[in-house]
Amino acid sequence: MVPEGLMEDLDALKSDSRVLQIYAKYVRGLKKAGTLYTGCCPLHADSSPSFSVYPDMRWTCFSGPSCGSGNIFQLLERHLSIPFKEAVELVKKELGDPDSWQKDRVLVDSVFKPVAESKTYKVLPISKADEIAETLSNFPQAVHYLDNRGVSLETAKKFKIGFRQTIKFQDPKAADILDKGWVLFPYIDDDVVRQVKFRSLARKKPGGFQRSPGMETVLFNVNTIDPFDPVYLTSGEFDAMILEQAGFHAVSLMSDSHKPTPAQKDQLMQASMVVLAGDTDESGNGIMDKLWRELGNRAYKLSWPIGTKDANECFLKHCKRDNVLFRALVEELTTKAKSNPMPAVYSLQETLLSGEETTLSENPDRLRFPWASVDKMANILPGDILGIGSTNTGMAKTTLALQITMYNARKYGRCILNYQTEMRPSEIATMAAAQILRKDRNFLTNEDKKTAAAELQGVQYFVGCDPMLSDINAVLDLLEAGIRRLSPYAVVLDHFHHLTTGMDNEVRVQSAAMTRIKQIAETYKIVFINVGQPRKATQQSKGKQIHITDFKGSGAWGDASNAVLAIHRDLNKAEDPTQLKGVYEDKTLIKLLKGRSQGVGNSAAYLTFFGEFASFEQLESNYEEVPSEIN
Ligand SMILES: [Zn+2]
Repeated sequence: MVPEGLMEDLDALKSDSRVLQIYAKYVRGLKKAGTLYTGCCPLHADSSPSFSVYPDMRWTCFSGPSCGSGNIFQLLERHLSIPFKEAVELVKKELGDPDSWQKDRVLVDSVFKPVAESKTYKVLPISKADEIAETLSNFPQAVHYLDNRGVSLETAKKFKIGFRQTIKFQDPKAADILDKGWVLFPYIDDDVVRQVKFRSLARKKPGGFQRSPGMETVLFNVNTIDPFDPVYLTSGEFDAMILEQAGFHAVSLMSDSHKPTPAQKDQLMQASMVVLAGDTDESGNGIMDKLWRELGNRAYKLSWPIGTKDANECFLKHCKRDNVLFRALVEELTTKAKSNPMPAVYSLQETLLSGEETTLSENPDRLRFPWASVDKMANILPGDILGIGSTNTGMAKTTLALQITMYNARKYGRCILNYQTEMRPSEIATMAAAQILRKDRNFLTNEDKKTAAAELQGVQYFVGCDPMLSDINAVLDLLEAGIRRLSPYAVVLDHFHHLTTGMDNEVRVQSAAMTRIKQIAETYKIVFINVGQPRKATQQSKGKQIHITDFKGSGAWGDASNAVLAIHRDLNKAEDPTQLKGVYEDKTLIKLLKGRSQGVGNSAAYLTFFGEFASFEQLESNYEEVPSEIN
């Protein structure tokens, strides 16, 4: 019997791309052949390569039925005549620490499900790229342009770079340069063209970059990734090409705003290690630092020599176009990068230099609220914890958290991770549909759900619930894995007290959990929305507004939060029982109980609750100044 939990470990272990390095020890002449690796079979006298390893790290021998197929454990069992357990131990020993990336992939994908369907994108056949690339050498201005950036014609041909004198695009910023010559970069993966980027010979900005509409944002040159070698990740196509020209494997992000998807991170993690070698400017550093944290212990960050912007500039200016010199320098910088294992510390100088002077309320990264009055209450930034509480249970905290995060996902294109301790993902999806369509959640038809799904297409909103997890640390492990994999803007934990109350050591557990939540928020620069539960209403407290000390358990929940929003609704006093819609009135007071960075508005506001639409709304007709004793 394999103990519980170990099966997942073994699954992750046998599909870990680093297993190839163990295959290479026993499979003579193992080398890459398309998406496979082939070599001579160790299980029979093999002179022609009949042994293949697939991307999922399983193997097959094609010589006949006697060898068959299997995974790495089964190969070692048979080849070395050792029991299964010993084969597992051997693999573990060879790989050192289990690859947390692989383990997390299995874990996160099993719990977090997207609320929306993913978008479908246009692709082009590879022949299209060949066709575009064929004529490049006929355009001396293009060849000259590439040479100016250190890219030889031979390298350009390898990347199927093309040229068009005139392109047709709607962008008014490019209206005057449409016929001034454009270099074409095809983004190829799985033998299809997933994106074509256009770069003007005339200028960079404005309008000098265009991309094919309807096509995906993908990594450039992703087919180069090889499990035996490091991969370099750059901020531009030229940088990747220069590195490849010098004999490295290099891929590039599409733009400054390209955040790699989980699938793209999986592609990167196929390499023996990831060297983050982006631009040295603020946005380049920001993206690479974020990825560094997310990819974890197989990623390193390379710093170009001082005064050098990127790989391209390093090759041209620092190394004077000398490939040998450039190669040696990159090797040296890589060794240096490996001695710096994690981006835990910022230099004070760096922090001071990168600090842009914008007021907090104008900060484009702050959490936004769908109601103008609440939006002006507090400035909540990535790295902050926002607590959401209510006077009593049943005042729709889950709805409020869902509405705030849905708004950020739909209006600002932000990715959200919403973890529920009690609600199932299907219930959350129904609430979201009611909210979007403004239709009664109890009477949603299948047609309504389809309409809502269409509205949500491409929206990055993941909901997870694992009823087996009752320990706060296990949930935070899961959330951290989810953050590394999905790169959310904000995470919702709904709710904290469900996982931390009622224990003997409640105070200690809560305070340790809040310390860890703070650390997670700061490390990954995410907004952590922590839904909290009030104490059971006593006779005296019934109907009274909540105070920050009224939350269940210790004070840690409120103390560690950067801001706390509380929901208060009075008990329904309707005389006529037929008017009684719920226990509480629809009129809702939203109050900022705590805010380290107060906004420009009042710290309290009224909203109206529509239970059937799972929404809070700010109604002009219901507008009422919040009395100053409350405000
Ligand atoms: Zn064989």
